[in-house]
This record gives sequence, structure tokens and C-alpha cells, in this order.
Amino acid sequence: MKTEGKVYLQLGADPKIDGEEQGCLFVVSTPIGNLEDITLRALRVLQEVDLIAAEDTRRTAKLLSHYNIQKQTVSYHDYNKARRTPDLLRKLRSGVQIAVVSDAGTPGISDPCYYLVRRAIDAGISVIPIPGPTAAISAVVVSGLPTDRFVFEGFLPKAEGRCRTRLFELSTERRTVILYESPHRLVKHLRMMLEVWGDRKMVLARELTKRFEDVQRSTISRFVEQYQDVRPKGEFVLIIEGASEEREKKRRCCPKS
Ligand code: SAM
Repeated sequence: MKTEGKVYLQLGADPKIDGEEQGCLFVVSTPIGNLEDITLRALRVLQEVDLIAAEDTRRTAKLLSHYNIQKQTVSYHDYNKARRTPDLLRKLRSGVQIAVVSDAGTPGISDPCYYLVRRAIDAGISVIPIPGPTAAISAVVVSGLPTDRFVFEGFLPKAEGRCRTRLFELSTERRTVILYESPHRLVKHLRMMLEVWGDRKMVLARELTKRFEDVQRSTISRFVEQYQDVRPKGEFVLIIEGASEEREKKRRCCPKS
């Protein structure tokens, strides 16, 4: 029998923990690019659970095949989460062990896993984290911007008005700000940031752990220039330095500076 903190697990043959009849929901982190970025524990859990709920079953199939894991997967995405969740909860209640994985990284960080975790907790199911990579943390630790305090804001709202409001709310934020960004909205959002916040140090972390990994440390205005004629490609994390009182004062008295 293997020990998992205070929980004794023996998945597969005897899928019971601490004498409970119910299954557990394992929230399993998977690589954000490089397939080697997965823990031994994650591989074991994926091997031993009865079912994997995956945001993108094709992407998960690649990971599983790389590690020779043959397991039933079921799609669990934003568009089907409301429909899929009751069935997963029913299975968990009847003793089925389930792992949930997202497209990449840690489930629940800007993906539909939160919905399932919340409902599993409400149903009295044990929810167990299997930690691993997440793009936000990988990016902030190499950014060179302060990491003692930071705030993760996920994606900015798509609608322009709501996005501007969010940027205004963040304009006095002193902590380092981490944002996820799609390549299609990058330029538009960089321009809005420059307008609302003024110029600041910024780090663009692109395609982390992948073949074309690229971390650029510069300023918002430089990135606006850089992407004027070049179409951004790939996955981005933006790390922005927090507000400083001095810069705010300067902006208030001479907004064009
Ligand atoms: N759950 C994931 C995590 O733990 O990071 C995030 C999922 S979210 C739907 C996808 C976004 O994460 C991308 O649009 C991008 O902003 C960021 N991202 C994911 N993988 C990345 C990578 N390899 N390099 C840079 N950013 C990445």
C-alpha cells in the first residue's frame, strides 16, 4: 500500500482510500510543452486511475502514448462541463478513481477544472492535487521582476470596455502582475496597457519549455513597436512590473511623459 500524506492509496485493484467507498478526484498537472516536465507521481496516478477527464483528449492521448499509458479518457471542456460533471460525480460516488487534466499545465489555472473541483467538494468527494508545471509560475520566476509578491490575473476580458476597466483597476497594483495572453489580442492589449498604465517594464515569455522558447525583457512601449509589423505567434505569458508611487505621481502631473 502506498502512502500519500495521510491518505493511503492503492488505486486500480482496490480503489478505496481510508476505507471510503468513494473515488477521489486527482487534479493532475501535465507539461506546458516539454513532455519531460511531468512528475513520477503524476505518471503513476495517470496509470492507476480508472478514467481521465481531459480538456483536449487528443493532446492527452499524445502524452499518454509517450509514457505508454493506456487509459480511458473522456473530454471535459468548457462547452460540455455542465453536461459532463453530473456523470463524473456519479462515477466518483460509486468508487471510480478519476484524474482531471487540462490542455497543459495545472488544471484549474485558467481552464474549466475549477467547475469540477467546486462541485466535487460540494459532493463530499476528496480532491487531491498532483502538483507540476504552470505557465504563470514558470514565467514569473525567470522574468527578473520581483517575485516576493505577485498577482495572477489570468486572461484580460475580451470585450474592450471590460478590458479597459480591468486595466484601470490594476493601474495602482504594486505587485508584479502576471497575465495570460492570446497572440490574436496581444498587440491590441499592449496598446491599451500603454495608454492606461503608461510605460513600464514588461517581460514576454513565449512558448516556454518548447522548441522556440523565448523570454524577452523590455518595456511595454518597445513591445508595441516590435509587434507593429510582426504577427505574434505562440503562447504568451506577460509579466508586468507593479505600479510605483513615484511613477504614478509623475503620470498625474504630466500624463504625456
Ligand atoms: N492551465 C494552464 C497553466 O497551468 O498554465 C494554463 C491554461 S490557459 C487556457 C492557456 C494559456 O496559458 C496560454 O494562452 C498562455 O497564455 C499560457 N501558456 C500555456 N502554456 C504556455 C507556454 N508553454 N508558454 C507560454 N505561455 C503558456
